[in-house]
Amino acid sequence: MTAGAATPILYVRITPALRRQLEAYRVELAQTLTAAVTELLERGLASVANGASVQELEAKAGGLEQELALTRIQLAEANAALRALHGREQELKTLGERAELPVGSCPFCRKEVRGTDVLLTQRCPNPNCGRGLTSLLLGSGAGSKDLDRTELLVLLGALGIIVGAAYLQSKAGN
Ligand SMILES: [Zn+2]
Repeated sequence: MTAGAATPILYVRITPALRRQLEAYRVELAQTLTAAVTELLERGLASVANGASVQELEAKAGGLEQELALTRIQLAEANAALRALHGREQELKTLGERAELPVGSCPFCRKEVRGTDVLLTQRCPNPNCGRGLTSLLLGSGAGSKDLDRTELLVLLGALGIIVGAAYLQSKAGN
């Protein structure tokens, strides 16, 4: 910085202690008092400006941290829901496979009937027979001894658990 006619002049009242410190600083650096004060002022202003931007960055980082934490929670929830969904899909697949197995024979035509015939279509799969199988479930109809009622109850129970779990989850989700 060079002194000249166009250079503004700043008059500031300072304490004697600060004046002594400035003098010591000037002597140490072998500078003029003007050069020493100007340098100190410039460094002070830069430090204040940096301090403000550091505070701004810290606030921004804090906001991002909160956002990240929230995103992590949402991701964990989505993963848990997906795992539950996969589990349910596997249960349904197992149940579907099991329902395809024979559970007895039609009391009218002796044709083999599967769990799905009794529980879903509720009709004999033999196209020449096609009699209703609903009475077999009640256990009072003729030929109920031709069916593995235990297996049918297990299938019904498993279906109930899956439907119940889906129902509870849909309630929890609301
Ligand atoms: Zn039949």
